[in-house]
Amino acid sequence: TDPALIRNFCIIAHIDHGKSTLADRMLQITGVVEERAMRAQYLDRMDIERERGITIKSQAVRLPWDGHVLNMIDTPGHVDFTYEVSRSLQACEGAILLVDAAQGIEAQTLANLYLAMNADLHIIPVLNKIDLPAAQPEKFAEELAGLIGCDPSDVLKVSGKTGEGVRELLDHVVATVPAPVGVADAAARALIFDSVYDTYRGVVTYVRVVDGHLGKRERILMMSTNATHETLEIGVISPEPKPAELGLGVGEVGYLITGVKDVRQSRVGDTVTSAGKPAQEMLAGYEHPKPMVFSGLYPIDGDEYPELREALDKLQLNDAALVYEPETSAALGFGFRVGFLGLLHMEIVRERLEREFGLSLISTAPNVVYRVVMEDGKELTVTNPSEFPTGGKIAQVFEPVTKSTILAPAEFIGAIMEICQGRRGQLLGMDYLSEDRVEIRYTLPLGEIIFDFFDQLKSRTRGYASLDYEPAGEQEADLVKVDILLQGEAVDAFSAIVHKDKAYGYGVDMAKKLRELIPRQQFEVPIQAAIGARVIARENIRAIRKDVLAKCYGGDISRKRKLLEKQKEGKKRMKMVGRVEVPQEAFVAALSTD
Ligand code: GDP
Ligand code: MG
Repeated sequence: TDPALIRNFCIIAHIDHGKSTLADRMLQITGVVEERAMRAQYLDRMDIERERGITIKSQAVRLPWDGHVLNMIDTPGHVDFTYEVSRSLQACEGAILLVDAAQGIEAQTLANLYLAMNADLHIIPVLNKIDLPAAQPEKFAEELAGLIGCDPSDVLKVSGKTGEGVRELLDHVVATVPAPVGVADAAARALIFDSVYDTYRGVVTYVRVVDGHLGKRERILMMSTNATHETLEIGVISPEPKPAELGLGVGEVGYLITGVKDVRQSRVGDTVTSAGKPAQEMLAGYEHPKPMVFSGLYPIDGDEYPELREALDKLQLNDAALVYEPETSAALGFGFRVGFLGLLHMEIVRERLEREFGLSLISTAPNVVYRVVMEDGKELTVTNPSEFPTGGKIAQVFEPVTKSTILAPAEFIGAIMEICQGRRGQLLGMDYLSEDRVEIRYTLPLGEIIFDFFDQLKSRTRGYASLDYEPAGEQEADLVKVDILLQGEAVDAFSAIVHKDKAYGYGVDMAKKLRELIPRQQFEVPIQAAIGARVIARENIRAIRKDVLAKCYGGDISRKRKLLEKQKEGKKRMKMVGRVEVPQEAFVAALSTD
């Protein structure tokens, strides 16, 4: 295709403002999805996306429109998936900034707009959901125009639901988004922006061609690893994969398959070139995202450790933000310490591992990364509470902080400040976006916002507040490690690093929870919460002689056997902590976040 006829754009917005629904209408109007094959949020292809009603992965689709080729990328809106969005932006020249006409600008509207501006994209402001009775298109067109610095009459108005205004929007994309520029006769350079492991076809690599041309049955070179492969298939997504006999040229977005099964051969951010005529310089690639939250992941069945490793390798291909390394826990056995971008990311990774790879997993309580400076000047980076040094030799502990932005109706200012102050927040500033809408900025410890902060915020503002945050360095804090001891023995999986003021609460809660969850043993089991050698909470599990046959009074022998079998089964799923038998379920329940 002649690059002059190509338009690459993405749809960005706050969560739920209708990106995926607008993408649906575009698929329909351009005729790439037949009427009878259409379903809502067509591009949310994963079960987990459909069930939760959220987009997790960006999806690129090629649409024919008015003699042109449009490559449209639908993106996720949640703050944890900003990395997905920023990668998509690099494959585009334009962005549709979508705003719900009944809600107005929200926190991720701003965050995504800034990302698009940084990527130098042409921005098309669009109000969506104008079919809603509660829509206030005039009011929000002004708000949006004020934000972007354009005239309110330049803001397009559409309904992704009814299709109103969508044709005009597509025409506007053709008219205003710049065509891609690249050198057609240069050595080929294509940026890998995503890849996925397919059981039948091996690694499928998604690329945007910047210069030159990539063809079928061509030997290609991955520039960062120097590996060469042959392209077995090359094509475009429209909306299913369609082989392209002529290959991909300047500005085109598509996929390639080499039949390679080794997932490490296709790295997101790498440059693909032609092995016969290799490019000299790689494309810029992506900055690696820094994991913000860590948690231990362990197979419930210890034999599944190798499967877990393989599953992580494969999932990492499709989730470039995922990092992990092996770790061992005295209580849970062999597993991995896994880094995530946030709690939603953590939930999704775990769920995908369980669903897509058939694993059952335990995850330990999530924590952020701490920097500990010892009195002798040594420094430690702690991603696992059990590595937190004990004893009196700690000089300083630093925790990561964020710059958080909250958007809400002005009537909630008081409630929002109260929540933030309760979590050691420091007010940075406040601005009115309009007479009844404020933007409040706080410095907040990451450890305080990743847990129930957002739920609290939503419930105290009747759902009206939205939150965005970005890393903003670190600060010194009064943090301690709370250990949980069973019969005097610390259980590593239950240790947590918490602020001094919250240590007591954590200890008491955990000791109570465990008293409920751990069955009585043949001896008394004290449960203690302690900071170093100082016990801050204590519970007791009283002794009992557990005789499973007591209920059977002689009687039916087969029933007796069944009970004994059952007890044996149960034994297998017990973990020994010292002399104490702790059922696997107790770990799962005690470590669950709710
Ligand atoms: P995304 O998170 O931005 O991808 O948003 P979705 O496309 O998943 O839409 C979120 C919700 O808004 C869904 O319940 C949609 O049915 C609804 N929605 C999206 N666009 C429109 C629209 O134009 N009008 C109305 N009334 N509802 C819409
Ligand atoms: Mg979506």
